[in-house]
Amino acid sequence: MSTASQPGTPAPGQLTFVAPRRAKPARHLADLTMAERRAAVAELGEKPFRADQLSRHYFERLTADPSLMTDLPAAARDRFAALFPTLLTPVRELTTDGGTTRKTLWRLFDGALVESVLMRYPDRATMCVSSQAGCGMNCPFCATGQAGLTRNMSTAEIVEQVVAGARTLAAGEVPGGPGRVSNVVFMGMGEPLANYRAVVGAVRRLVEPAPGGLGISARGVTVSTVGLVPAIGKLADEGLPVTLALSLHAPDDELRDTLVPINTRWKVAEVLDAAWDYAARTKRRVSIEYALIKDVNDQEWRADLLGKLVRNKLVHVNLIPLNPTPGSKWTASRPEDERAFVRRLQFHGVPVTVRDTRGREIDGACGQLAAAE
Ligand code: SAH
Repeated sequence: MSTASQPGTPAPGQLTFVAPRRAKPARHLADLTMAERRAAVAELGEKPFRADQLSRHYFERLTADPSLMTDLPAAARDRFAALFPTLLTPVRELTTDGGTTRKTLWRLFDGALVESVLMRYPDRATMCVSSQAGCGMNCPFCATGQAGLTRNMSTAEIVEQVVAGARTLAAGEVPGGPGRVSNVVFMGMGEPLANYRAVVGAVRRLVEPAPGGLGISARGVTVSTVGLVPAIGKLADEGLPVTLALSLHAPDDELRDTLVPINTRWKVAEVLDAAWDYAARTKRRVSIEYALIKDVNDQEWRADLLGKLVRNKLVHVNLIPLNPTPGSKWTASRPEDERAFVRRLQFHGVPVTVRDTRGREIDGACGQLAAAE
């Protein structure tokens, strides 16, 4: 054998550096459309209608353990286990508000950490989910933004957070008796529109009626974004009337450039235009998110400017008292400044609410649990 090394073939003893292929989360039933599930079942040598049975087990009975799926042939159950890989492993669970707020820190297959929060109210139960491990948007007031982006989550990793919450509610583990998830908000870790395909896939699984999905009303699903303008337009094209939440946080470019750095790419006027276009096409009221930060963005003149920008639009302003992150110099606005801000918006006829601060004592907001780990 020749010792001359071929291009790309290392000589004996020579070190080679093969770029590691970044492993992806395993394929799961929840990644697949109904048609793809039928194909996957056929690949396993089973009749396509088994895909409907498997889907009912997962999305209706909330079971992912084939050994419990006794209406399936025993011999096939083992093979179907391939469609239900373990994607999320709970690391920590914290509860507050008498057990009605439950936050879970999850470890993904590759060690990445993400958070989800279940919040039960008298009239609804909301799951707040992560769409990325970490986030690349770098907003300085957000705990997740500080660590940067680890990776995108898969559709099934996103859906599994909701299914986990649905199981907890169905099992009666949350005070108030057995219940269902009525709302899903993409306000956990990550920028959902920067993981567009997986997020839209997850939304489709959430809103599709059983057996295809969880059958949650699209009106109950909110996608929150820093304002990736082209993706907002694309989302309007999907025909999924989910609520769009736009994290504005400042009405002027000078300040927004610093609070939401993507603003240097798409300015306030552009992102608001995209929001109004979204509202017009989906007939859904857009939610403007505005974290009130003491002496940073809470001046009355900024409330006035915001009021002028959004009045007479299909809009709702959601003020969020800043949840200070460890080591940050910023804190929530004084109560009197918050009240004045609300009054200025009301003066302009803008519907406004101040978000409740559930889960604050369990680092309920924005990647703080993962950051602490
Ligand atoms: N990336 C998306 C969704 C993530 S967070 C987005 O930015 O919209 C959901 C909301 O919580 C966003 O409006 C975000 O700006 C806000 N948020 C982040 N950190 C916060 C903090 N420390 N206090 C209050 N709100 C915060």
